[in-house]
Order: sequence, then structure tokens, then C-alpha cells
Amino acid sequence: MFDKILIANRGEIALRVIRACQEMGIKSVAVHSTADADAMHVRMADESVCIGPAPSSESYLSKAAIISACEITGAQAVHPGYGFLSENAAFAQALEDHGITFIGPNAEHIRIMGDKITAKETAKELGIPVVPGSDGGVPDFETAKRVAEEIGYPVIIKATAGGGGRGMKVAKSVEELEIAFRTARSEAKNAFGNDEVYMEKYLQRPRHIEIQVFGDGKGGAVHLGERDCSLQRRHQKVFEEAPGPVITPKLRSEIGSICAEAMKKLKYIGAGTIEFLYEDGKFYFIEMNTRLQVEHPVTEGIFGVDLVREQIRVASGLGLSFTQDELEINGHCIEVRINAEKIPNFSPCPGRITQFHAPGGLGVRMDSAIYDGYRIPPYYDSLIGKLIVHGRDRPEALARLKRALSELIIDGIDTSVPLFHMLLAEPDIQNGEYNIHWLEKWLEKQFA
Ligand code: ADP
Repeated sequence: MFDKILIANRGEIALRVIRACQEMGIKSVAVHSTADADAMHVRMADESVCIGPAPSSESYLSKAAIISACEITGAQAVHPGYGFLSENAAFAQALEDHGITFIGPNAEHIRIMGDKITAKETAKELGIPVVPGSDGGVPDFETAKRVAEEIGYPVIIKATAGGGGRGMKVAKSVEELEIAFRTARSEAKNAFGNDEVYMEKYLQRPRHIEIQVFGDGKGGAVHLGERDCSLQRRHQKVFEEAPGPVITPKLRSEIGSICAEAMKKLKYIGAGTIEFLYEDGKFYFIEMNTRLQVEHPVTEGIFGVDLVREQIRVASGLGLSFTQDELEINGHCIEVRINAEKIPNFSPCPGRITQFHAPGGLGVRMDSAIYDGYRIPPYYDSLIGKLIVHGRDRPEALARLKRALSELIIDGIDTSVPLFHMLLAEPDIQNGEYNIHWLEKWLEKQFA
């Protein structure tokens, strides 16, 4: 086992990893930008190193600075969290070249899954069902037209190098396709420096269902069921739950086994998430994330396992601490993402937190890095915390969420908390009847 781990991240996820290290008796090293000198992760870690100025391109994304920080502190492994360098194959490779362990999959798997076309082709070869669409990239409008006629309208055009919900365009007819195809390409070029796009059938009312997988790197792998993350705004998740309200044990076991078998074939190591759209009893692969997800606590809650601990274990060469047969679902978990944002336009709202009080009690978990007097810097993601509740069943989890939200106090800035109070009053949310378009439509009605 490692003696010392460096966490190449900030905010709540850095704390999450530090906590796992503390429980495992491993020393932790925080890295931070000059804007984060007062951040909680710096205070909580055993050591800290300043790795550069505020812009993440010069600090949290600086491979050289992070590798130097490992050498200075003697950290043997790096946990990348999510975002930043977590899915950067060159970073994983560079660490390996320096004899430092990357706590995550190998560079090759990150590379395969980071390119959406290769990922889809690989998924298909591994027996995972995919959304009908183009075979690989679509080079010109004529090809786009032919593909659309084959799979039928509406279609979605996506950037091969896309991510974070950006670079996608929907077309309902051939007229719309021409404009959508050209704008998708030029937007992809501007945003990702790569204008390659591909096409898929646009599903009209799917749910976003993702399967948590875990591989030991030696040909063993398990799945930890699904999370339903259908409540999204601009393709960004805001509310996640496990188990999924519409997923039966039979469906879970079928899709879960397909995913676990695929990871065995790949000899995948570490945590991964295979994302699907789910409609009318069928799953369609959209992408795989080769890292820990923001919403991993809902899976931890229902299975009673520490996924970060498992990541550290398998990276150090130990096996998983559980087998598939030992994994049993207990109750229901819901997570809401608390962002420093002004509702209804969701504009970022950095500033000083004058008062913070975290909710508590049975089944309540608050993962956050904020504190009284903390000044949220304007340079990074607006996520400032996650409230996760566990109940014996979905109605109990919903009631607990309502209660916990009313205990939570974050003063001095605007947050997304009022949105969740409103959502919990909606019968569709209470009944679990929503799809990936539900939230956008509801927001339009509420705030039009
Ligand atoms: P990103 O990597 O940018 O997050 P994804 O491929 O994971 O992109 O898609 C993000 C979201 O976009 C999905 O959760 C879903 O809401 C929507 N989406 C993607 N593909 C389709 C599709 N074929 N039909 C309908 N919606 C889609």
C-alpha cells in the first residue's frame, strides 16, 4: 500500500479523497493554486504545495507542476478526482514514466474512451448495445444526409472530441440537417480544435442511466448497478439517484453483467462509468467515463462501499474488497448538486460565504469544501457541494432530502438550493416520472 498520495484536484472531491486516505492510514498531499491558498483541502491534507497561479491551465492542469510536487513530497501515487487531468491519457502516461502510480485506468483505456467514435466502436465490439448511428466520423453533408435517411429523423450530431454536454446539434429534417451539420463542425473546431463529428439517432424521451463498473486490472470486474441522472440542464446533471426508479432487478442484472463482462475482457483497472440512454426497455451506450463521477456517493450509499478506497486498493495492486455476489442494494439514495449560481438564469455567483450550516441526522451526507467566511474564487467550477441522502426506500429518501435541505444554510451567495425545494414539490419528481428533457421543459414553464 502507498504511504503518501497526492490529490491533483480541489474542492469537495479533494476532501473526499483526503478522507479515504485518512481512514486507510495514508498521508495526503494537497496541491493548490495561489487563489486556493485558504481552501479547505489545503487545510485538511497533511502537506500542501502551491503549483501555480489561479488559472487552472497554469495550476491544476499543469502536468509538470504536479509531477514536481510528487517529487518534492515523495508522493507515490496521484488521485486525479474528476475533471482537470482525470481523463488525460498523457498525464497518466507521464506519471507512469516517472514511476508514480496514477490512481485510475491505464493510459490506453483512457485514450480509447476519450475519443467518442473509438469508444463507441470498442463498446460495440465488447457486446455493449449502442445508439444507431454513423459508422465513425461523418466527413461531409452528403454522407450526413445518407446516414440520416438510414437511421431516420430526428438525428443528433456530436463532436468526436466533445464533452461536458457541448458540441451537440439536433436536426429534425434535411433542411435543419444542413445548418446543424455545418454549425456542429465549426463549433467543434473552435471548442475542441477538431472538427470531426458523428451522428446518432436522437432519442425523444430517454432516461440517462449509467452503470458503475470496477475492474481489478487482472481480468476481474464487477458492476454496482445504475444511477439515474436524467434531470439535466444543458446536458449537465443536477439531481441523481440510485437505484433508478424504472430499472427492475432483471434489467439491472442484464445490463450490469454486460458491462462487467466487457470490463473483464478489457482487463480494465479502477472505477468507470458506462453511460446509456434508456428508452422502452432498451439501453443505448453513449460514452464511458474512465474516472470517479461526481455522483458516485449515491452508489456508495446503497451498497455501503467506499469507492475511493477501492480505487486506491486496486491501484496499489490489491484486489477489490468485495465480489459481485456480496454486493446487495440497501435502500435508496439521492444526490443534489449545490452550485454557486443565481436561479433562474444559472449565472455563476462567486463571493464570500458569510454563514454555512450543514444538515445532519440519520441518512444525511454533505460533501463540500466550504466554510464560514470562505470566499469562492471565480476561476473554477460552480459546484460547491453535494447533499446526499439515504432512506430505506425512495419516498423516505425524498422526505429526508426535503428535511435536510431545510436545515442547510449557505448565506452570502446565491445557490441552486431553491431549485431543489421547488423540484421536490413536483408530482413527477415524487413519482420518478422524468426523462432527460423534463427539467429544461419545466424550467421554461417556471421562468418563461
Ligand atoms: P458529453 O460527453 O458532452 O456529456 P454525452 O454523449 O454523454 O456528451 O451526452 C450528454 C447528454 O446529451 C446525454 O445525457 C443526453 O441528455 C444527451 N444525448 C446524447 N446523445 C443523445 C441521443 N442520441 N439522443 C438524445 N439525447 C442525447
